[in-house]
Amino acid sequence: MSDATPPIYVTQPLLPPLAELMPYLEQIWANKYVTNGGPFHQQLEAALCEYLGVGHISLFANGTIALMTALQSLGVKGEVITTPYSFVATAHAMMWNGIRPVFADIDPATFNLDPARIEAAITPETTAIMPVHCYGRPCDTQAIDAIARRHDLKVIYDAAHAFAVRQDGASILRHGDLAVLSFHGTKVFHTFEGGAIVSPDAATKRHIDNLKNFGIVDEVTVVAPGINGKMSEFNAAFGLLQLTHIDAALARRRQIDEHYRCALAGVAGITCLPHDGSVTPNGAYFPILVGPAYGLDRDALHHKLRDAGIVARRYFYPLISDFPMYRPMASADPANLPHATRAAAQVICLPIYPDLESGQIERIVALIAGQ
Ligand SMILES: *Cc1c(COP(=O)(O)O)cnc(C)c1O
Repeated sequence: MSDATPPIYVTQPLLPPLAELMPYLEQIWANKYVTNGGPFHQQLEAALCEYLGVGHISLFANGTIALMTALQSLGVKGEVITTPYSFVATAHAMMWNGIRPVFADIDPATFNLDPARIEAAITPETTAIMPVHCYGRPCDTQAIDAIARRHDLKVIYDAAHAFAVRQDGASILRHGDLAVLSFHGTKVFHTFEGGAIVSPDAATKRHIDNLKNFGIVDEVTVVAPGINGKMSEFNAAFGLLQLTHIDAALARRRQIDEHYRCALAGVAGITCLPHDGSVTPNGAYFPILVGPAYGLDRDALHHKLRDAGIVARRYFYPLISDFPMYRPMASADPANLPHATRAAAQVICLPIYPDLESGQIERIVALIAGQ
């Protein structure tokens, strides 16, 4: 037996008591229905529409295939303007559709795409914008939607971080032509692997549902070169179980967010991103910025935490635009992306998940404050 405390990771998946899963599994075994839009799949779509306050949801095997299908469903081609400050899947989904990502800089106050930089990046090849609600903090949806209308562009929000986020009381997933969620194990709400597309109307959902099932409409009708993006009954059943725990999980995440925020308030050189009073946050991430006034640089603090068993993460470093398949693109030049470049050099995301204990938070804060 070792008395070493186990590492604290940046996140830990929400796993309800195993006994609670058994009735769902028994039901699957009784139904003998394991995928292809089975009963749990249909129930989870309905339950998520209600929980999130949106009209139409299509479940997917993962968020990346959902992003790829969203682009396909709108016939997006040419260039799509997006943020370098995200997980690589945002841009990879474009590459798999033969689309060229064009990176625009973020607003340093929000870490989301700066609308003025979006507009400056539009060319005759531009057909769409793919903004990310980074850390679950809403983009400037009004400005983005106005730009899209002015230039006749589609908008697909990568809402992978934004489960259950509301602004002025309404879901932020209602914005844009489509919004895409990820239910990966690292996300606030997860189905081990999974994802979803939020559609504005039933016809759009129907088209997306066809695309995720090989383009099949019925036994003798295939309408498009679709893909297999279906969520299985196992994942859907787990999602339904998890929904019964999600309110408590979100409440605890918001508590942890407040705890960090108060405890770190006096630490010179450490900045927490401010809350927007109009937003109901989901506590998905807790990013801090390690500024020049702090005694160590970001990487030194990252290593110091790691040495103490705290596995914080540098989300998002490197920038997507700095990976080798993107770096040769003109828009990937760091000179075009000064704010994203600085954010990527300063950010650390601290551990946040429902089972994180107050004593562990205190330990993390003491390590950050006590250098
Ligand atoms: C997690 C994530 C994805 C990809 O989702 P998967 O379900 O893992 O495929 C896409 N975009 C962002 C911003 C993400 O954080």
